[in-house]
Amino acid sequence: MLKTCAQCGSAFDITDEDLALLDKVSPVVGDKKFALPPPTMCFHCRLQRRLAFYNARSLYHRKCDLTKQPIVSIYSPDKPFTVYERRAWYGDGWDPLEYGMDFDFSRPFCDQFRALMETVPLLSLAVLSDNVNSEFTNDNLALKNCYLIFDGERAEECLYGHTFAGIKSCLDFVVLTDCELCYECIHCENCYNCKYARYSINCSDSWFLRDCISCKYCFGCANLRQRKFCIFNEQKTKEEYGAFMRQFQTSSFPAAQEMKKKSDAFSLTQPVKAVRGEQNIDVMGDNIYQSKDSSSCFDCYRMQDCQYCTDCLVGAKDCCDIHIWGDAMELSYNCCVAGVRVRNLLSCYYVSEGCDNVFYSIYCSRQSRNLFGCIGLRHKSNCIFNKQYSNEEFEQLAQKIIEHMQRTGEWGEFFPPTISSFGYNETMAQTFFPLEKKEVLARGWQWGDFEAPVEADRTIRTSQLPDDANDTPDDVLNWALLCEVTGKPFKIIKQELQFYRDHRLPLPRRHPNQRHADRYGFKNPYRLWNRACAHCRKPITTSYAPERPEKVLCEECYLKEVY
Ligand SMILES: [Zn+2]
Ligand SMILES: [Zn+2]
Repeated sequence: MLKTCAQCGSAFDITDEDLALLDKVSPVVGDKKFALPPPTMCFHCRLQRRLAFYNARSLYHRKCDLTKQPIVSIYSPDKPFTVYERRAWYGDGWDPLEYGMDFDFSRPFCDQFRALMETVPLLSLAVLSDNVNSEFTNDNLALKNCYLIFDGERAEECLYGHTFAGIKSCLDFVVLTDCELCYECIHCENCYNCKYARYSINCSDSWFLRDCISCKYCFGCANLRQRKFCIFNEQKTKEEYGAFMRQFQTSSFPAAQEMKKKSDAFSLTQPVKAVRGEQNIDVMGDNIYQSKDSSSCFDCYRMQDCQYCTDCLVGAKDCCDIHIWGDAMELSYNCCVAGVRVRNLLSCYYVSEGCDNVFYSIYCSRQSRNLFGCIGLRHKSNCIFNKQYSNEEFEQLAQKIIEHMQRTGEWGEFFPPTISSFGYNETMAQTFFPLEKKEVLARGWQWGDFEAPVEADRTIRTSQLPDDANDTPDDVLNWALLCEVTGKPFKIIKQELQFYRDHRLPLPRRHPNQRHADRYGFKNPYRLWNRACAHCRKPITTSYAPERPEKVLCEECYLKEVY
């Protein structure tokens, strides 16, 4: 079935598999199954809507409204919300059911939900454990001495990154698993002491690698397997490699930029695989691993019978339209940040840990079931708008609310950006679908204007920095540097300066937000195109757009080329 997206106007297809999965995830309330309607928007507009609810990385100083202590939060102090610090929020000092509201059938669901959001205390940060010395982080657990890292678990001494598991002393990254001492790496696994590596596994002591496996002491290489002392894919002796590296002044900003340019240019001469992924059966997507019978899934592991899922790194089954998480997640639809033994979730944000049958709710967890339009509930059942009902009452009222939402056109849709707790620019929607302030406001969406001042002894342009980090005085820690792209001031922290000096790297010239945007700009989009293999002309589906300069190969041709 070909449909026109209600938001962007583009044509999109709803397949029989899409409809079958929608039927499978349609909720049953009491004795009635409530069919989910086919989506009104294309995959990207649906994803954008979920992301506009999700602030992963905009952090602010404010006060906890319960303890009155200064805290760090995803809610800027100008927001109309009550915000509690994590321990206070999870503590016994308040009861979320005290904020219960009656449902009003004369108003749309979402208006009433926004009113509830402005009443119930919200969790300051989406952090699941007592982290050590890592206040400026969010959406994570088990961190020690980390700063501005988001969406992941188990990290020590890591700074400025997004999406990770089990990493140590890494700086400026996106999607790293089990890595140590890596800098400016993208989608790497089990790497040690790599700089500017992309899509590489089991590599160490190397620079500017792309799609390499098990390489050591290599520079600017692509598609190599188990090699040592290669420079731009050419085998060198150990001595030649050493001489080359001595010549490369890694700590000089212009020298590093020059090498980056050379490596990018060389990388373009080497083929890429149409789809990055391993151990899959019948899947379509990109960066997808150990998955089965799934389509349009990106950055996912261990998916089964799933569609349109993104960034689900720990597995899901029978799920559709989920961004982030997984981990024994089943039969869920249209959620953002949901996982850990959850099932039958519909349009939820940050719902986790054993929840079942939870609809249109946020921040609910710990074995809650039968919730509808709830905020902040744990170990609760049969609640609607934070009000307790009997099981029978819940079923009757929930059925009526669904019928009401079918009439208002809200049923099956995720919460709209108009009721998000965040400005569009504060959310991950800005990372994936960047928009100017005027475009956002023209759509009737929100923009966050709150900017905390950067305190500094002096402000300098990054072009005034010495080329070499070693020539930079310690005093730089007290300066505000102006980003070469956005002009936004940013600071260097002590741990960071030490890393640059230890690893002979130049200081960054861009604000951490710009570096984050740059890395996401490098990643391929969550989008697939049909084109032909550059060698055998076989049709392929790939996230490399047809106009891109890379030589894109089908799996067979790629394997012939690299092994
Ligand atoms: Zn669209
Ligand atoms: Zn081919």
